[in-house]
Amino acid sequence: MNYENSLDFARQLDQNDSLRHFRDRFHIPQRDGVPLTYLCGNSLGLQPKTAREALEQELITWQNLGVEGWFDKTEGADQPWLGYHTTCKEALSQIVGAEPSEVCPMNALTVNLHLLLASFYSPGVDSPGVDSPTQKKYKILTIKGDFPSDQYALETHVRHHGLKPAETIIEVAPRADDGLIHTTDIQHAIAEHADSLALIWMSGVNYYTGQVYNMAVIAETAQRHCIPIGFDLAHAIGNVPLRLHDWGVDFATWCSYKYLNGGPGAISGVFVHEKHHQQNLPRLAGWWGYREDRRFEMTPGFLPAPGADGWQVSTPNILALALHRAAISITAEAGIVALRQKSEQLTGFLEYVLTPFDAIQILTPDDPNQRGCQLSLLVRKNGKALFNYLTEQGIIGDWREPDCIRLAPTPLYNTFEEVWRVGEALRKFL
Ligand SMILES: *Cc1c(COP(=O)(O)O)cnc(C)c1O
Repeated sequence: MNYENSLDFARQLDQNDSLRHFRDRFHIPQRDGVPLTYLCGNSLGLQPKTAREALEQELITWQNLGVEGWFDKTEGADQPWLGYHTTCKEALSQIVGAEPSEVCPMNALTVNLHLLLASFYSPGVDSPGVDSPTQKKYKILTIKGDFPSDQYALETHVRHHGLKPAETIIEVAPRADDGLIHTTDIQHAIAEHADSLALIWMSGVNYYTGQVYNMAVIAETAQRHCIPIGFDLAHAIGNVPLRLHDWGVDFATWCSYKYLNGGPGAISGVFVHEKHHQQNLPRLAGWWGYREDRRFEMTPGFLPAPGADGWQVSTPNILALALHRAAISITAEAGIVALRQKSEQLTGFLEYVLTPFDAIQILTPDDPNQRGCQLSLLVRKNGKALFNYLTEQGIIGDWREPDCIRLAPTPLYNTFEEVWRVGEALRKFL
């Protein structure tokens, strides 16, 4: 697309945007009665206007029915609390490219990662079906500088098995010249360590640079070497199209408070590929992952519910699920393909309005296939002052020490005019 740096041009793009009415579905934060230019959906997505009503509905059920709310429903509700999670499956499976049985909302991202590592990383234990880690196969391949929570989870699992992180975790590093992770470097690392690798775990989108990894190709390489692979989709879900089932990804987890707008600390979810559903994988179980038809028999001996549901542990937070359901239904309604199409234009426009400023170096790849909504700006001189100025001007991004500003125009509620305003603010400051 040929861009033009003018207000008229930006407004024209907004006029032609078939998704523009979705902005009205969200509360846009204001300052002194003026809507903020909110470019922080990569950190905390905005509140859908349906969130309050969804929450209210379950508060009414609780108020009127008490414990019976698990089996009964009040007027206006379509689902008792028991089985409530199943009402999220259609939208979730569409968003991540999965079968409904392969996904289940539950817990929080890092908690889910621990549960999934218990199933997919157990060095020394033989388990049929997965190419299970043996004495020889015990290493984990990951990305250097991935999100700290993931690093802590991997490190502590390794220690839990009596292994040493330094000898067990292999990190693929970004290249020195462009600061990016190259797919071929990951493929080479997989091939080189194939004999000792028990697991590959990495993010799908880098939280810092905004780089989108080629998950399809990496998953294909992993399968070729019979190494289970899982993805952290915190920055990928609701941001870029995913085809977890077709790609043959073994497992994944995500958070839903970023691009999925589920609210602060919103409920996470897991994906477990169908190919593992019939296997009795090791797991850290709880009663909510027990077969639903027999859960209340309260008998000893864990029998997992079929599919991803069998990874549930505890009674779900229904209020969080209600918010989650309201939020993902908006993403599913807009459709990830249409969202992605607008997103490429929005972010392309942001890149375009940033081009004239030599003080700003964009860390995110310029290839649209290697990025999502977010652009990460490296501002070596006066970065913090620039960030503060943008905030004063009502432009909300986020700051990563020591010199990085992340801006994420999201296709559900941001406009081209807002992106144009970023360029104007920069011109005044620089
Ligand atoms: C945001 C984010 C998390 C957050 O994990 P929580 O368990 O939800 O706190 C994890 N990993 C990545 C890559 C993230 O971007």
